[in-house]
Amino acid sequence: MSNPLRVAIIGSGPSGFYAAESLQKGSPGSHVDLFDRLPTPFGLVRGGVAPDHPKIKSVSRVFDRIASQPGFRFLGNVCIGEALTPAELQRHYDAVVYAYGAATDRHLGIPGEQLPGSHAATEFVAWYNGQPEYARHTFDLSQRACAVIGIGNVAMDVVRILASSADHLATTDLAQHALVALRDSALQEFHIIARRGPVQTACTTPELRELGELDGVDIIVDPRDLDLDPVSAAALASDDHRTEQNNVALLREWAARGSTGAPRRIVFHFSASPIELLGADRTEGVRIVRNRLEPDGAGSVKAVPTDEHVVVPAGLVFRSVGYRGTSISGLPFDAKRGIVPNIDGRVVERAGGTTVIPGVYVAGWIKRGPHGVIGTNKSCAADTVEQLLADAAAGALPSTTTRPDEIDALLAERRIDVTTWSDWQAIDRAEVERGKAAGRPREKVVDVAEMLDLVKTSRES
Ligand code: NAP
Repeated sequence: MSNPLRVAIIGSGPSGFYAAESLQKGSPGSHVDLFDRLPTPFGLVRGGVAPDHPKIKSVSRVFDRIASQPGFRFLGNVCIGEALTPAELQRHYDAVVYAYGAATDRHLGIPGEQLPGSHAATEFVAWYNGQPEYARHTFDLSQRACAVIGIGNVAMDVVRILASSADHLATTDLAQHALVALRDSALQEFHIIARRGPVQTACTTPELRELGELDGVDIIVDPRDLDLDPVSAAALASDDHRTEQNNVALLREWAARGSTGAPRRIVFHFSASPIELLGADRTEGVRIVRNRLEPDGAGSVKAVPTDEHVVVPAGLVFRSVGYRGTSISGLPFDAKRGIVPNIDGRVVERAGGTTVIPGVYVAGWIKRGPHGVIGTNKSCAADTVEQLLADAAAGALPSTTTRPDEIDALLAERRIDVTTWSDWQAIDRAEVERGKAAGRPREKVVDVAEMLDLVKTSRES
């Protein structure tokens, strides 16, 4: 083990930064190399958090501070699994913390899901946030109606961005290509399809409330959906269900208000599961089955299909049923759960196994699954780093034989155009500058080659 500690963190989203911060606090002077496959940092804070939520995005200022600490380096544009293997990382660092999140999404597994017009909500989010791999995606916004499956916060973000006025979106850092497309959107109807009831909404109240604050948009809730089953009614009555109480109160308010004749409308469908996407050449609708809610034996309810079917017309469908982690070649993976198998953050050799791989750790969504808000990752990363430091103190980390600069030599030999923190700052300045000209907080660069050109110009100046 080196002194000070040399640690590689993979993924520069919240869990990666919080892991770096925990190391800086728990082992002052440690050398932290934070890798990202993109030339830019911040993971879902840049590519996932909705552009009209600048307050949530402002957590990046905390990350700036972490990046300014001695011993910290950012190595952007380095894809682990391609540019460097996990085995190579293990040779060059005392410990490696994988914090690369959940890059893909869960599928519904129903007929028609592959039709044109059916998309993952996560792709739409990545598109409007200017994630380079998704910037060239197209979504047919000439449709009149769309459906979003699932009622988590991602579903709320997608519906809100689709139903917001383009003038409002123009005040945000929404990617320019998305702003142009959304200005021409013909969408008037937004269906939210939730398989369980109003008490089981996965979204939080501020996000739900924002739907009701959109200009020119009615919210349609069927009052019959608010007749609660006994389990849901009991849950709602208990003190520890504040979010559920607030969500149901909002839904009741909307159900009572009904339609006001606004040009656009968001329609909630509760106790409804999609069973098929309809259409010959493209999505034209979602066949849903009405569910009965029955006790699930664990204090909540499960959706049990009835034989009542309804078709919701929708020329665009977004499945928003959760993110999913992906594997990195050379690192164990639990394909069932979409996580790297671990015991309290220590990576184990296989799913369900108990043999720990010394010096290899996980934090964030790839450790525990795609749940929780940004702050959840702070304690999650701190817990992992606590294990890492305990292993270091116990002499349980493998010994590193390489010199710190050898990783740089390896990357240079492989002609990887690594971006540093000051390179990112140059991209950041350029984006803010471009945005200023258009009266926007920033205009994102959405092309990796363009980012690297900008970096080159800035290094030469
Ligand atoms: P989520 O919160 O897990 O919600 C997933 C939704 O999909 C649930 O309503 C779930 O219903 C439903 N679902 C799952 N499988 C389904 C199926 N086969 N058929 C129909 N519906 C199905 O996931 P998410 O919205 O992707 O969010 C991920 C995490 O990021 C969450 O922790 C979220 O709070 C967080 N996030 C936060 C913000 C914010 O703070 N503003 C923004 C975005 C995301 P059941 O409950 O019945 O399983």
